[in-house]
Amino acid sequence: MAVLIDGKKISTQIKDECKEKAAALKVAGTEVTLAVIQVGNDPASSVYVRNKKKACEYIGIRSLAYELPEETTETELLDLIKELNGRSDVHGILVQLPVPKHIDADKVILTIAPEKDVDGFHPMNVGALCTGEKGFVSCTPAGIIQLLKRSGVEIDGKECVVIGRSNIVGKPMSLLLLRENATVTIAHSHTAHLKEVAKRADILIAAVGKPKMINHEYIKQGAVVIDVGIHRNAENKLCGDVDFDDVEPICSAITPVPGGVGPMTIAMLMHNCLESVSLQK
Ligand code: NAD
Repeated sequence: MAVLIDGKKISTQIKDECKEKAAALKVAGTEVTLAVIQVGNDPASSVYVRNKKKACEYIGIRSLAYELPEETTETELLDLIKELNGRSDVHGILVQLPVPKHIDADKVILTIAPEKDVDGFHPMNVGALCTGEKGFVSCTPAGIIQLLKRSGVEIDGKECVVIGRSNIVGKPMSLLLLRENATVTIAHSHTAHLKEVAKRADILIAAVGKPKMINHEYIKQGAVVIDVGIHRNAENKLCGDVDFDDVEPICSAITPVPGGVGPMTIAMLMHNCLESVSLQK
């Protein structure tokens, strides 16, 4: 039976470490502050924003909530970001994506000061990740590295296959694995012979966005399988990109959905908020 990689437990460890750091910063005179902006009231976004605020409360990070109406113009949003960029009492700025269609998400990302971009989406931070400079790393892939390391999974020298090449998950994931000295393959919707490519993996990261697409035909015996996907099935239950029941008997370790990668994303966001204080110094 495969080892279950427990994202709930590991994310709690990280949040508790963050709690200690936040308390020490407070004693030293800095109340770490995150500004969270939501435009419109997409239900999924509201859940994410609520969970982020809850995590801030748990850790002792002050959160400033900006809940803007759907009809907010791009200029109004960019002006708010610029104002927050200039405030020395605000350390991190997060705009919950997706933004409504009339707002250009790329412009939003570019407007957030790189040293306050706790999501790690600004091209300066992505560039820093590429060249190994200091900067914020996108929270989900950063969380996956922590999951692997804290579960004792060796990355150095391993064959890693990342399925998915999005800017938020697949690409930064590949760069982080490369930084850990893995041999990395990025597979995507145009990859030929995907099953054969996936079967090379000692560590397979599924970030495809397709419910239960990855079954045993994609898995090498004994591989470690990380499932990034989050979907609701017909019975309104959560499932991932991996067909857990089909894959679990042949892999050595696997993340469940829920309780795997999901909780790590918020834990790493909190970690990034604390990092922002030193990056701004
Ligand atoms: P995305 O849709 O932006 O990217 C999906 C990628 O998968 C694309 O690069 C595409 O080329 C590739 N792909 C699509 N179909 C494919 C196929 N048939 N074969 C091979 N490759 C294929 O998605 P994303 O933002 O990277 O997210 C991926 C999944 O992770 C989604 O289910 C999303 O909900 C989930 N997600 C979870 C968290 C978390 O905190 N757990 C965070 C972000 C995203």
